[in-house]
Amino acid sequence: MQPATKTPLSDSLRRLVGQPASAIDTPALVVDLDAMQRNLGRMAEFARKHDVRWRPHAKMHKSSALARLQMQAGAVGVCVQKTGEAEAMVAGGVNNVYISNEVVTPSKLTRVAELAHQLAADRGQLAIAVDSVEGVRRLAQAMDDRRHGGVPAVIDVFVEIDVGQGRCGVQPGRAAVNLALEIRRYPALRFAGLQAYHGKAQHLRSPQERREAIARVVQDVVFTRKLLEAEHLPPGLVTGAGTGSMLWETASGVFGELQAGSFLFMDADYAANERDPAQPQFEHALFVKTQVMSSGVRHAVCDAGHKSHAIDSGLPKVLDLPPTGELVYENGGDEHGILRPTGSNQRVPKLDEVVWLIPGHVDPTVNLHDFLVGVGGGLEKGRVEKIIRVDARGALS
Ligand code: PLP
Ligand code: MN
Repeated sequence: MQPATKTPLSDSLRRLVGQPASAIDTPALVVDLDAMQRNLGRMAEFARKHDVRWRPHAKMHKSSALARLQMQAGAVGVCVQKTGEAEAMVAGGVNNVYISNEVVTPSKLTRVAELAHQLAADRGQLAIAVDSVEGVRRLAQAMDDRRHGGVPAVIDVFVEIDVGQGRCGVQPGRAAVNLALEIRRYPALRFAGLQAYHGKAQHLRSPQERREAIARVVQDVVFTRKLLEAEHLPPGLVTGAGTGSMLWETASGVFGELQAGSFLFMDADYAANERDPAQPQFEHALFVKTQVMSSGVRHAVCDAGHKSHAIDSGLPKVLDLPPTGELVYENGGDEHGILRPTGSNQRVPKLDEVVWLIPGHVDPTVNLHDFLVGVGGGLEKGRVEKIIRVDARGALS
């Protein structure tokens, strides 16, 4: 396997390791390593207890180092959404990758086939999702074209069914069986099972709404599996679930693999979900460290705007810590945030004071940064332990 070509970290970044968290220049995306490790442990424990595989979504952190950490904790591999993300994972030493998405462009499928062969030569495995006969044929063609150059490889192929999101996927039932039959025609493709992910169910606020949405997903999966059985096709694995719904996919007994990604860092949008007592209690582990650059009579201004954090799922929340106390963050544009005291707090933060923001949505926030600063021993008093590269950053194709 080719080693990843990496631009060296800047001197100032390398020097940061071992320094107190107060030395991190702002704005910066900071991981509370202790909280992250606890989230990882809770996920591993949940999967062990329920005897289900977990394949966390690496589109969330886009870091091969974090993917390897998750595999050391028991994950079978990782999911990605993009060919470029898969390439970054493989280059970073991750040998089990599932592109949980459709790839149909022949030039990209050439890259997919290349990765499949690279992983096969390294005792790894690549998998991909499909939702069209044309997609299956193009994938088979790309695998065949690549085969002439080296060791034969087999790619695992999941048929995606639309279980309520209204995005990719064929209708549950006959259409899925037809695709599985098409996959079976090609020796370099192996029908691996069904992808049944319901994105819209993740942020339904009440546990009851999420439970009901997943009950319908499970019906679709069971129905499709019966038809597969009638065709003497192997049932394969059912893969899906996100942080908000994984309790119910797991409880169904039908899902063999969980794709949750956000649990590792947890964002403000997920924290706004009402938690079912049986769901693992994940905690915030990703923060934007920001500092006050201007302080007025009624508000202060910090140096983090929406170039530091995504705002598609709402503005960040402010961690309530002394001396700043309870604050609301208001949009100040690309580079600024407006901080206002709220509740019983009347104190306007002073120049230089540090504020920790909880991003509304972790995935697109991480994609704004080249690296994450990992702090151990707590955000305020801790030390920088490592710099984590976002090595699949910007891998959009
Ligand atoms: N699986 C697929 C196909 C997804 O698109 C996503 C996220 O959008 C996930 C899993 C992970 O969901 P989450 O990060 O909300 O846990
Ligand atoms: Mn997300």
